[in-house]
Amino acid sequence: MFIRPPLKTGARNRILVSVTSELTSADSQIDRVVSRLRRFGQDSRDRKGGVSGLDPRSAAYALVNDLNRFPHAFVLGCIADRQVKADVAWRLPHLIREEAGDFEFKTLVELPESVWSAALKRSGHRLATMMGGLLPAAIQLIANRYGGDAKRVWAAGSSGAAVARRFLAFDGVGPKISNMAVNILIRNFGVSLAPPMPDIAVDTHVRRVFVRLGLLRPLDHSRLRSTRAKQKLRLQLRARELSPDWPGELDWPTYHIGRKWCHARLAPNCRECRMGDICPRIGVS
Ligand code: SF4
Repeated sequence: MFIRPPLKTGARNRILVSVTSELTSADSQIDRVVSRLRRFGQDSRDRKGGVSGLDPRSAAYALVNDLNRFPHAFVLGCIADRQVKADVAWRLPHLIREEAGDFEFKTLVELPESVWSAALKRSGHRLATMMGGLLPAAIQLIANRYGGDAKRVWAAGSSGAAVARRFLAFDGVGPKISNMAVNILIRNFGVSLAPPMPDIAVDTHVRRVFVRLGLLRPLDHSRLRSTRAKQKLRLQLRARELSPDWPGELDWPTYHIGRKWCHARLAPNCRECRMGDICPRIGVS
């Protein structure tokens, strides 16, 4: 049997230096990517443009962005934001107002089922039947737990994690929507929350962009869970490592890059992408 002779100290140090410098350069590449994402996210925060996906001049936009008078509109929009384009979800409160005559909380608490159904039918929401149960239930929860004032879900002094937990109590809301809701409140409305801050809201765009940017290795298979579910958990933990003060800070920039430039089926538009000059383009041919 061949036994490798021990390395001389000089050789060992050379290997150590080379491994260390490789790690350091990989780390600094990741730092560059993360700090660019943060800067991109900060641009959006500075705009404080409210929820995206609606014409800013529309009545529907004004309603879901009026957190002072109609905070329940924001909650209903968040609950409806699944399996449809964002504009369908965020326009829904406005359609409910049109059918109900106004959007006062006391009107919604007593709204007959036929009015909810009429608004949902007009909305074209693909889960209209399900929403017909979830949205009135959300109004009841706001009535019973928050005295009819949905702003109390994100009351001053709350932590980001506590607000995400409160959103999770609404039927139909899972980790993705609860984290998304809190991240929007912080980023787009400037709501100030204490640590711990919310997690990243993982979706297909965020997953794809994390891999292509070299922030998370792809996962080929998983026996005990679906590969997608496991990758989602890995990504959540990775975002906590990369951005411990606020993991959710990375979700809007990566989501936006995925929607705008880093396409799944079409070739990614790296030339236009904000990350084009520093992205390692992992898995992009
Ligand atoms: S540079 Fe290209 S591969 Fe990288 S994130 Fe942008 S679009 Fe995707």
